[in-house]
Amino acid sequence: MSSPFVFHIGDLRSGRAEPRDISSEVSVDWHLELSKVLPEPVLRFSLELSPIGGGIAVLGEIEATVAHTCNRCLDEWQENVVRNVAQLITTDGDEEDDYRLVGEEFDFENMVRDELMLDLPLVPLCTEDCKGLVAEAGSDLNTDLSEDEVNESSPFSVLKDLLDTGD
Ligand SMILES: [Zn+2]
Repeated sequence: MSSPFVFHIGDLRSGRAEPRDISSEVSVDWHLELSKVLPEPVLRFSLELSPIGGGIAVLGEIEATVAHTCNRCLDEWQENVVRNVAQLITTDGDEEDDYRLVGEEFDFENMVRDELMLDLPLVPLCTEDCKGLVAEAGSDLNTDLSEDEVNESSPFSVLKDLLDTGD
């Protein structure tokens, strides 16, 4: 089965070729340490391919939903990410080029992934001043419990009960 990222674009080598739009919807499994592209809703991309001297200009848009985990408090949230693409596929370049057309088909997977992933935060934070899990837990674990729960589980309340009984 051919990849939904692979398109036959060899004819665009010709300067006389008409610009062409391509688009696709793909379920991907790409992730960084704390951010991942969700398989649903699917990633969409639509690109306009225009023959220019020595290559094919690529202009368009990528849209995907990314789930982030806060680096401090581990909270998770989702973000609809839209990226504009402005790239060049060389047709007479060498292996130094990022994107090069060899043969008739081009696999857009690396381009789409790079454009989408390179702008994602390496250290996502739910808010700029997130105090984080460590700070919250370190301050006092018991603040999450109601006062009654604290009293019931406290060794001092047990001792107090014993003393009360002793009277
Ligand atoms: Zn956070």
